Amino acid sequence: MSAQEKALVLFSGGQDSTACLAYALDRFSHVETLGFDYGQTHKVELECRDALRREISQLHDWGAKLGDDHTLPLPALAEIGGTALIGDGEIKMMENNLPSTFVPGRNLLFLTYGAALAYRRGLGVLVGGMCETDYSGYPDCRRDTLDALEQAINKGMESDMCIDTPLMHIDKAETWALAHELGGDALVEIMLEHSHTCYRGDRDNRHAWGYGCGNCPACELRAAGYEKWKAS
Ligand code: ZN
Repeated sequence: MSAQEKALVLFSGGQDSTACLAYALDRFSHVETLGFDYGQTHKVELECRDALRREISQLHDWGAKLGDDHTLPLPALAEIGGTALIGDGEIKMMENNLPSTFVPGRNLLFLTYGAALAYRRGLGVLVGGMCETDYSGYPDCRRDTLDALEQAINKGMESDMCIDTPLMHIDKAETWALAHELGGDALVEIMLEHSHTCYRGDRDNRHAWGYGCGNCPACELRAAGYEKWKAS
């Protein structure tokens, strides 16, 4: 099996990374997953990962393709601080038009660590849920940023790594549609029940679109996307 048939999915346990995991299992012969523990305020996403992996491995022939799960601690991000995802800060829009949940350069770090792990594991493709369509305008989610990073990684590691971003140009409704296309109602059900998006870590309130507080920016985006998909 060539490295280009083997993928490492950046897998946080959220809705987008779960869709990415299904995409990778559909497309590649061997798939491993990577999560980061960077002292985020809510570790609930990380706790959802096991359940998602277990349930998804029951679909199609995906159990045979799903390989190891990895978690890397990145406590340095918490040391730098200054974001509502890691401290106690309020979730709001800041003067630079970025939400207070922005962690500067986070995806650059994630992908660079991911590339180093993939290199060691002989995996040629990094799959990430970055999206420039409707996700808060994070500059490290844009495809031109990732093209530059892919080039830097391959120069710096003398590798031929590919950064695959299947959600880059689709919105949240289309992400649900993609999940349905890949795994039918069963996958949609798994995502609703076990994937986690809420910035406040709420797992008590269950809505049609899954668990969450219902009024943070992540919940609002998830709810709107789900309802748009259901209406389509
Ligand atoms: Zn929420």
